[in-house]
Amino acid sequence: MTKNPDNALARIRFVLVEPSLSGNIGAVARAMKTMGLSRLELVAPKQPIDAEALARACGADDLLQRAGVHADLPKAIADCRLVIGTSARRRTLDWETLEPPETARKLLAETAEGEVALLLGRESSGLTNAELARCQFLVHIPTNPDFSSLNLAAAAQVFAYEIRRSWREDLPESTGIPSSTASGETPRDLATAEELEGLHGHLADTLREIGFGDPDNSKKLLLRLRRLFNRARPDRVEINILRGILSAAQGRKSATRPTPPTD
Ligand code: SAH
Repeated sequence: MTKNPDNALARIRFVLVEPSLSGNIGAVARAMKTMGLSRLELVAPKQPIDAEALARACGADDLLQRAGVHADLPKAIADCRLVIGTSARRRTLDWETLEPPETARKLLAETAEGEVALLLGRESSGLTNAELARCQFLVHIPTNPDFSSLNLAAAAQVFAYEIRRSWREDLPESTGIPSSTASGETPRDLATAEELEGLHGHLADTLREIGFGDPDNSKKLLLRLRRLFNRARPDRVEINILRGILSAAQGRKSATRPTPPTD
C-alpha cells in the first residue's frame, strides 16, 4: 500500500479566482499536467478558454476541457475539507502561513480523507481578505520581499512541483503504511467548506438575534470567529453540536434535547 492513496493527485484541485487572461489559464493547465495534477476549477474567468489558452496549454487541453467554471468561489470549493489560499504578499491577516513544502504535504495527507483545494488569485489583486478567510491556511512562496509577485502560472508551477516532489517521496517502498496511520493521527471526518459556511452564517444570524453586538457592523468579530474555527478545524459532529447550541440560543424548539430517561 502506498502512503498516499492512488488517486491523491486527482483529489487536489487548483482553483483560479477570476483570472483575467486566458493565456494564464492555459499556462496553469500545462504547469499542473507536467506534475500529474488534473483538476482545474475556474471562478468567473474574465476570458473564455480560447485559442490563446490552448496555445499556452501546449497539449494540456484535456484539463481545460474538463475545467469546471463556477459563478462564485463557494461553489468551487463546497465539498473540500481543506482549503489553502495563496498570497503574493505577507498579509496582515493573522492566519497561519505555511511554506510551499508543508503545503504540499498537508494537501496530500488530507487526500486520504477527501477533496482539497489550493486557491490562486487574480493577476491584478490576488485573493480578497474575504476569500482568504475561507481558507484554513495561507501559503506564501518566499520570494524577494521587494519584488514578491510571481506570474499566476509560475506560482502554480511552484506549487505543482512541490506537490509532485512530496508525492514521490511517499511512493511504495518508503513505509508501506497509509499516511493517517503513519502520522499516528486518527482520521477525522472534517467539515467541508460548505458546512463551515453554514456554521458561520448561523453564527452571524444568532449573534444578531441575541443582540450580541451587531455582526453587520462587526466584521472583525466574525473574522476572529472564522480564524478560531479555521484553526480548530471542526469535524461534522462538532459542527452539528455547535449548530444545535445556536438553534437553542435562537429559541428553536427543535433544538431542545430530549430529556434523558430516568430510572
Ligand atoms: N498584485 C497581486 C499579485 C497577484 S499574482 C497581489 O499583490 O496580491 C497572482 C496570483 O499568483 C496570486 O494571487 C497568487 O495566487 C499567486 N502568487 C504570485 N506570487 C506568489 C507568491 N510569492 N506566493 C504565493 N502565491 C503567489
